[in-house]
Amino acid sequence: MSVTATPAGLCAFVDASPSPFHVVHTVANELTANGFRELSESRPWDLPAAGRYFVVRGGSIVAWVETGASQPFRVVGAHTDSPNLRVKQHPDLTSAGWQLVGLEPYGGAWLNSWLDRDLGISGRITVREGNALSEKLIRIDEPLLRVPQLAIHLSEDRRGVSLDPQRHVNAVWGVGGAPRSFLGYLAERAAIDPDAVLGWELMTHDLTPSAPVGRDLDLISAPRLDNQATCYAGLCAFAEAVAEPGAATPVLVMFDHEEVGSQSDRGAHSDLLPSILERIVLARGGGRSEYLAALAGSILASGDMAHATHPNYPERHEPAHQIEVNGGPVLKVNQNLRYATDAVGAGAFALACAQAEVPLQRYVHRADLPCGSTIGPMSAARTGMTTVDVGAPQLAMHSARELMGAQDVFAYSAVLAAFLTPADATPR
Ligand code: ZN
Repeated sequence: MSVTATPAGLCAFVDASPSPFHVVHTVANELTANGFRELSESRPWDLPAAGRYFVVRGGSIVAWVETGASQPFRVVGAHTDSPNLRVKQHPDLTSAGWQLVGLEPYGGAWLNSWLDRDLGISGRITVREGNALSEKLIRIDEPLLRVPQLAIHLSEDRRGVSLDPQRHVNAVWGVGGAPRSFLGYLAERAAIDPDAVLGWELMTHDLTPSAPVGRDLDLISAPRLDNQATCYAGLCAFAEAVAEPGAATPVLVMFDHEEVGSQSDRGAHSDLLPSILERIVLARGGGRSEYLAALAGSILASGDMAHATHPNYPERHEPAHQIEVNGGPVLKVNQNLRYATDAVGAGAFALACAQAEVPLQRYVHRADLPCGSTIGPMSAARTGMTTVDVGAPQLAMHSARELMGAQDVFAYSAVLAAFLTPADATPR
């Protein structure tokens, strides 16, 4: 597990992780290689006093280091999902001699950015084995699909078309010949009997590799920076905290389903985080009272990407809160609690920035534009923990291709590491 976050490391992480299930796979592999043991939620835990553990629930993962001390938690949270185009249940379509794969948007995908790109397929399928189910990761990094846009000459005013998510985002994958079953094709590629495929969560991904760009190569062009840049920075920070823990138990949590509201078995609105934290205290020999006492002194940093001020649209941003790429981590505050930050959480994060010797930028959304949300408010409501919403600056959020600063990779990871290892974690 690399303690030092680097732009190349981020690019490799993103390219290895086209779906939430692959993010979890990438993170679990890193953890396992570094002495972490996966625990099953379906069995009681009888753990030694000290150890390194993680739990996977679908596209979500929680990792922690047990030291045996009864102390509060410091939690870094992120989300594993990104907006994209996903495969429908009956995907095989034909139109004008073309064979199409029926797709629909997941989350707030910026649809125009998905056009004219070479798209691969990833996700998971469930497979029948006798009368039991098994689960399999699927990944095809080949230009299988493409959503072609309308020629400019056929548009009404040559200023771009408005896209209908029902009609305009189906992908072509063949022309002429006999129609082929898309799922049958995938099953064949995965060496599975097509009739044994029972369920699937399949999605498209941009095949262009992530890369440093710009005059000084100090920008990173990549898909899914929201929010894999936080997953990566959080993992590196967690590795640092594991090597030298502070006065709190370091916890890393990554949730699926943030982009669609977090309300699921494994989203931030689920019991995933509180139930794991409670089981950690129970495994220490504590009870419900000790669990609640530990929560009272705990703080969660909800990490998600932040909007840098766009040079072509500066008027879209709050004029007194300009955010610079490569200008350091961002504290996100919203008076209507679209972000969970309060003065105590803000203080803990500002202190971590000072300790990590990185600058802090303070973000406020324009009061006349609707503000997006994060896992922060829901995690705070589910656990009662002080929560602070933070991030790293980027442009083009929810595009198939996003842009952030290379320097921010170092600073973001450094501040999250400082946050995870407080010298003092006095309960409130
Ligand atoms: Zn996000």
